[in-house]
Amino acid sequence: MEWIERAPAKINLTLDVLFKRDDDYHELEMIMSSVDLADYLTFTPLEENKIEVYTNKAFLPVDRRNHVYQIIKLVKDRYGIRTGMLVEIEKKIPVAAGLGGGSTDAAATLRALNRIWNLEMTLDEMIELGMCVGTDVPYSLVGGTAFVSGLGEIVTPLKPMPSCWVVLAKPRISVSTKTVFRALEVEQLTCEPKSRSVARAIQAGDYYGMVNNLSNALEAVTFERHPTLRQLSDRMERYGMDGVTMSGSGPTIIGFSQNYSRAKRVYNSLRGFCEEVYITRTLK
Ligand code: ATP
Repeated sequence: MEWIERAPAKINLTLDVLFKRDDDYHELEMIMSSVDLADYLTFTPLEENKIEVYTNKAFLPVDRRNHVYQIIKLVKDRYGIRTGMLVEIEKKIPVAAGLGGGSTDAAATLRALNRIWNLEMTLDEMIELGMCVGTDVPYSLVGGTAFVSGLGEIVTPLKPMPSCWVVLAKPRISVSTKTVFRALEVEQLTCEPKSRSVARAIQAGDYYGMVNNLSNALEAVTFERHPTLRQLSDRMERYGMDGVTMSGSGPTIIGFSQNYSRAKRVYNSLRGFCEEVYITRTLK
């Protein structure tokens, strides 16, 4: 028997870095939302005690470096499971793009294993296991539109964000989240935290209040290393998107519009300039 689980990508409407903690991790506030771009994971239980992961992207590791492998191993150890699991990941979400691809695959795996092996894990138990693999996993377990704080483990659901089109543009640049955080000088951050204003706008259904307050504290570091990203962001604004920001640590730049033909025009104009461009809606 096979089980299929959908794993949607996330975007950041905001990413505020509040301070650096004594353990060197950063305390964050973020607004995240799921978009209609997803990986699909197919699970096949095995009699034999082994973990097998396959994917359609040759460059992705399928051993213990893969988040899906890591979650299965953690769950098997925690619950003493002596049978195995085979997972095929149909990867549609760009990798290392700031769209939370690895984390959403890990969350989808937790959901699937909970059902297949009848583990009766609560959301809090899944969040605790998920944090061992990635700080975006808790958000991916909850999904929708949410205010995310702490290191990523505190997820407060919000109303669905006002309906709009989202254009995602990912140039051929790889960004390591760890390197970006390491280069960040928190004391020198000049941008004001915006997550609470955006949360209020979303709760009020105020689309312009939302798009006028998009922000990402990591933009300065990533844009300095990759100036073409600033050009891409400026270009999307010039083309008439209502609001533009970077997702996660980048490099994906996202633009918002309530007008489909304008979003489609921007999508078409960027396709020659950028390696991967998508037009999506947010998920309820
Ligand atoms: P992060 O902000 O956590 O770095 P991201 O969205 O920018 O996330 P991901 O697509 O999650 O990037 O990839 C980050 C790294 O995780 C990549 O180097 C990739 O090799 C590794 N990885 C492990 N498992 C997966 C997976 N199932 N899907 C995507 N990447 C994975």
